[in-house]
Amino acid sequence: MDCKQAVSLMHSLLDDDLEQSSALELKEHMLGCPACKEHFHQLESTEQLLYGFNHRLQTPSPDLTERILKAIPEKQKQQAAWLKWVKRHPAITVAAVFVLVMMGSALSMWNADQQMIVKGQQLDGVIIEENKVIIPNGKVVKGDLTIHNGLAEVYGDVEGNVTVVDGRIFQASTAHISGSVQQIDEAMSWIWYQITNLFSSAPSAK
Ligand SMILES: [Zn+2]
Repeated sequence: MDCKQAVSLMHSLLDDDLEQSSALELKEHMLGCPACKEHFHQLESTEQLLYGFNHRLQTPSPDLTERILKAIPEKQKQQAAWLKWVKRHPAITVAAVFVLVMMGSALSMWNADQQMIVKGQQLDGVIIEENKVIIPNGKVVKGDLTIHNGLAEVYGDVEGNVTVVDGRIFQASTAHISGSVQQIDEAMSWIWYQITNLFSSAPSAK
């Protein structure tokens, strides 16, 4: 057996995939050939390293969650009862967060498509553009005003409440709104509601 043959058989030997006669020949060669012996040792340690690496990847440490939870201070752990639930149901928690994120982005896409809706008892003198409602200076709007998916620019008077859902409101210095001004982000409050609901009901879940 020459060195070339020996090297070509080394992997098979490491994999225990070599006929006994060939294995003996290879071992005999390595006994008399320091270069091949050294090469084999290098191969051996590389394979061991790779094996260990693959092995760790394939079987993730089962006490990973345990160690993460231990890293959290005791006091905080007691306060956060939902952590126990998360620990018991890691897959469900990950899935729930994933669904919430997906729904959040779906909602924002859906909102981007939506047209502005303006509701009011009396809209005379109110300028309504594609995505903007303007209450001009000097105009008086009687009653409540609700705007969905748009920008409200108030320069005049509103004798009532102004509610902006999934939009923004701009009040000029000349603006006067007798009622309350509310901005509601439906998508955000919906997601927030889902999250708080999940975690407030979580500890009682079995
Ligand atoms: Zn050799």
